[in-house]
This record gives sequence, structure tokens and C-alpha cells, in this order.
Amino acid sequence: MAHGHMIPTVDMARLFARRGVKATIVSTPLNAPLFSKTIERDGQLGLDISIHTIKFPSAEAGLPEGCENRSSLTSPDMLPNFLKAIGMLQQPLEKLLEECQPSCLVADMMFPWATEAANKLGIPTLFFNGTGFFPMCVFDSIKRYEPHKGVDSDFEPFVVPGLPDQIKLTRSQLPTFIREGTENELTKLMDEVSESIVNSYGVLTNSFVELEPAYSEHYRMEIKRKTWHVGPLSLCNRDMKDKAERGSLSSIDEHECMRWLARKNPNSVLYICFGSLFNHPAAQLLELAMALEASGQNFIWVVRERKQTKLAEKEWLPEGFEKRMEGKGLIISGWAPQVLILDHEAVGGFMTHCGWNSTLEGVTAGVPMVTWPLGAEQFYNEALITDVLKIGIGVGALEWSRCDQKLIVKKEAIEKAIIELMVGEEAEEMRNRAQVLKEMARRATEEGGSSYSDLTALLEELRALETSKQECAAN
Ligand code: UDP
Repeated sequence: MAHGHMIPTVDMARLFARRGVKATIVSTPLNAPLFSKTIERDGQLGLDISIHTIKFPSAEAGLPEGCENRSSLTSPDMLPNFLKAIGMLQQPLEKLLEECQPSCLVADMMFPWATEAANKLGIPTLFFNGTGFFPMCVFDSIKRYEPHKGVDSDFEPFVVPGLPDQIKLTRSQLPTFIREGTENELTKLMDEVSESIVNSYGVLTNSFVELEPAYSEHYRMEIKRKTWHVGPLSLCNRDMKDKAERGSLSSIDEHECMRWLARKNPNSVLYICFGSLFNHPAAQLLELAMALEASGQNFIWVVRERKQTKLAEKEWLPEGFEKRMEGKGLIISGWAPQVLILDHEAVGGFMTHCGWNSTLEGVTAGVPMVTWPLGAEQFYNEALITDVLKIGIGVGALEWSRCDQKLIVKKEAIEKAIIELMVGEEAEEMRNRAQVLKEMARRATEEGGSSYSDLTALLEELRALETSKQECAAN
């Protein structure tokens, strides 16, 4: 029920359908239209794929009518009711599973009860949590060893124990529910998630083995579950329409956007986007605007806040900014066709909040990244980009927040990171490393590649399970 989870899940269903499997996407009435056109196009191409909607119980859970997606929550206080509404989907899902008797259910992490629902009917569940092996290993290590309890202050670095590389974090970069060790609806959910992993048939990951080999191995050893790499899932969007409409209708005409990029030299544009959920305060946007101007780089800047929080221009833009940046900078107010933009040869850098999808999309496009994590598991993903893969530079973000960011990153720090990423020898080296990963990512999803073969093995296993189930029923 959030773009960062729905986008890869829909891509995955489409990937399954392309491999000859009948796929049904379970969604809700207001979320389904976000991807229904793409699914219709797939259907016209002959794929056996469809959407089944279940009513979302907003009113029953005390939410305003029409509040069906995480991005429509206007305050963090609405989260408990939102989670309650999600939990109420268990019964209708059970009914659907009973009617359809699928060979397998893929369940996003936010529906840990789905594993139980499917297990009751003897249907194997594949757990999908939308992130990579590296962050899952960090999460597991912190939960197991609690290294943050051994430091004296929130800003003193500690090493995350037991990982293949030396990864350092600070307590301030951990989710508040881990940092404070308090019990609430989120900690409860995370416990249920861990339990559903154990009770699932295995774990599907939007990643490819060449990206984080030591970590997929580490995870497999620690969690003792079967795992399959099926990514990068964004690569299943091949034509322009699919890329342009992925996740939502974009706020800019895709052709206009491509024309703007076509006028720029290769690797000369910085693309800036902080995902589908986070809003920066006006004071932070102002520092970023000043840094962009001072850096002298071309940029495309996605400003979600302009639509979401309806900020007045004078609060977040220096006077005359848009006039001075004409031709040099393009502001997209709302939703951008991210994959389409990243894949353009003019784009040479990505300033990202390090959501897993964005991280992987940056890798897949072969662009180095300015990392600016804000919440969720994004600080872990930043460590993968900057310390392990060495294809990015941190802006110096220190504080995990849900959307009440207090520490403002100053113009000078942002400008420095942008210039180091876009210009000079180090930038070139990072770009070269990113290009190598891009090639690996593409090869992984082609016939014979690692993710392609992992999916083949999974489908064969599921078919064998189905056959033995039918044989058992016949005897
Ligand atoms: N996205 C997009 N256009 C936007 C903002 C986001 O296409 O303007 C997509 C992006 O490509 C990614 C997803 O939304 O696939 C965001 O997921 P991510 O895990 O990066 O971050 P989240 O939104 O969950 O914080």
C-alpha cells in the first residue's frame, strides 16, 4: 500500500507472467488504477495477468474515506489506523485464496499474516520485503547484537557486528523504534514480519547476486531460508510507455522531458528525487536550491512537496531562481518518470534518499549517487552505495526520521557532494564502477543470467510442488 512496495511487486507479477505463469495481482480500488493501464497492455500482448481488487476498510479502521495508500497519510499519527486497515484484509484474502487455490502466494512484508492464511490452505508463500540482502543483513545484526547500546552518544559510530565488511553507523541513523527499544505497533509488526519469514517457503529479493554476493550468502546462512534473486525488477519495463507510467501518471510529459535531456551533453545532468513518501521542510529545500545553483551543474529536481504540502515559492526558492536556472535546471512538481530519466545518457548523477528501489534503479542505470538517506532502512543502503560498492558520496545526513526532520544539511555540504560526484577524477572512477554494475545488472536478467536462472529454478520447484500436490490429492 505504498509506491515503494507496489511498484516492484507489480513488476514481479509481470515478470512471472512473461515466464508463462498466470499472475493475479491483489490490490484495492484506489491503488489498482496506478498500474491498471500497464497490466491491460500486458494482457493485450497475450500475457495471462490480471488484477483482483479487495475493498480497503478505511472507514472501519477510522481513516478518512479514500485513504488507501501510505502516501495519502497526512500525519504519522494515522499510521496505526492504516496498519489496522491493512490487517483487516486478512479475511478477504483468505476467501480469495480458497476460491482461486493458487500454486503460490507472493506476499509483501507488510502482510505478515498472509503467510499464515496461505499455510492453512497448503499454499506456499514467498516473502518479499522490497529491499536487498545487504540491508536485511544489517537489520538482522542490529536486532541480534544491539551494538547501538554500547555507545555513549547518538552520534558516536559503532561497527555493525558479524558482517563481511566493516560497516559503521550511528544510533541517530537507526529507526526510533530500534533506538529507543520501545514497544509499539511498528515493533510488533517487525516481530510478525520476522516470524512470517520463518514460516514462509522462501524469500524473493529485488536484487542480483553480483551486486551483493557476500550478503546474500550471509543472509542465507543466518536466516536459513531459501532465497531467490529476481532483480533488478525495473528492467522488466522495456518500452517508453511502461517506463513513463510506472507507479503513477507522471507530472511532466515524457516527450518534453526527453527533449530537455536530449539538449544536454552525456553525463552532465544531476537527477534529484527523494522517493514517494518523504517531504523536506522548506528550510531544507532552500539550502538544496542554493547548492544546486552554486554547483553550476545541470539538474532535474523532483519537488514532491510543491504538490503535497503546497509550499509557497518564497519559502523554499531563492528569489529569481527559476528564471536564472532556465535551460539549466528543470523542476518537476509531483511524480517524475524516474526510470526513463535515469536511463538517459545525459544523466550523470543521482541525488537519492537511498530507498531500495531508487538505489537499485541508480545501479541499473550505471549512475553514481549523492546519498541522502532520511528514514526506513535507507542509512543501511547508503553504506552499501558508498562503503561497499564505492559508487556514491554521502551528503552527511545524520538523522533518521519518519517525516519530522530536524537537522538541516547545509548548502556548502550539498554543493561539495554534488561537485565531487559530477566533476573530476574521483567522479570518473565512481562512474566507471557504476557502469560495470550496470552491465552486470542487465546480464543478470537476460536469458542465462543469474536472476533469470534463479527465477527458472523457482518456477521449476513450484511446478514440481504443484504436481506432487495433485498426485497426493489423486491418491
Ligand atoms: N518514483 C518515481 N517517480 C517519482 C518518485 C518515485 O518513479 O517521482 C519511483 C521510483 O522509481 C521507485 C519508487 O518510486 O521505484 C520509490 O521507491 P523507493 O524504494 O526508492 O523509495 P520510497 O518511495 O519507498 O521511500
